[in-house]
Amino acid sequence: METVDYGAKGIVFDIQRFSIHDGPGIRTIIFLKGCPLRCRWCSNPESQKAKPELMFSRDLCIGCGKCVKVCKVNAIEPKKEYIVNKEKCTACGECALVCPAGALIMKGKEMSVEEVIKEVKKDATQYYRSGGGVTLSGGEALTQSSFAKELFKACKAQGWHTALETEGYANEEVIREVIPHVDLVLLDIKSFDSDVHLAYTGVRNELIKKNAKIIQELADTVIRIPVIPNFNASEKEITDIAKFIKTLPNIRKVHLLPYHRYGENKYKLLGRNYEMNGTEELSEEFVEKFKAIVENNGFKCVIGG
Ligand code: SF4
Ligand code: SF4
Repeated sequence: METVDYGAKGIVFDIQRFSIHDGPGIRTIIFLKGCPLRCRWCSNPESQKAKPELMFSRDLCIGCGKCVKVCKVNAIEPKKEYIVNKEKCTACGECALVCPAGALIMKGKEMSVEEVIKEVKKDATQYYRSGGGVTLSGGEALTQSSFAKELFKACKAQGWHTALETEGYANEEVIREVIPHVDLVLLDIKSFDSDVHLAYTGVRNELIKKNAKIIQELADTVIRIPVIPNFNASEKEITDIAKFIKTLPNIRKVHLLPYHRYGENKYKLLGRNYEMNGTEELSEEFVEKFKAIVENNGFKCVIGG
């Protein structure tokens, strides 16, 4: 059995229990901070920055001023709609600890592999019964590749199924280091057109397409297509993506993930603008048309995932 570095540390911003998505059976999803992409529709904007950051709810704040008193760098500006001055804030977390209203929440904390495994063990009996396991998500978990690799090794040492949700945007060395420890990869392909991809995610997609070929050789892989209005929700885009997936010989299954607005409020809590403001969710009928395109290209296709 491979040795595991249980002392390896990473920044985790959430651990979600009893999920029935993102892999088989009942799963624990571990969300890691940091992402090289900036997808306009991202429903986890608190994942994007590598370091911990504060979320602030104006609705919950009772104006007690306790946060102002404990902040050593004067980063709280109570009169502003989003009270944290991001330039000054060192993400020490003191204000969130004293806030009596739960209006300040620190997203992201450093954890060791040992600490994460201790948490995850609480759910382990569910994995054996359901065929579930642990999924690493983000952000992009591969931005913390050493931590991700040690976490996967530690999960395998427990006999748990491992899955990775990824954008596939990492260098080849990272892919070859981490993926062999993963039982199932859920790989996003967002657009075939690299210029469009750049405009909506902040990066070109050549690296992702190249990595897709490598990943599906190293692990069981499902392709996920987020279906986003004004971006890729067209017959042409979905057809182009399906044709690309046909060049990946080991892919059998595709998930379509229709656009939703669940993350919208989080932008407000982070003091950011939601760039998809006013975008309507897609009708079931509309997404079914795309499902048929994917199926006609020879793949098993499910909506959701
Ligand atoms: S996290 Fe620390 S530095 Fe940032 S606003 Fe709160 S107390 Fe100030
Ligand atoms: S401690 Fe919490 S409730 Fe009090 S002013 Fe600060 S954010 Fe508002």
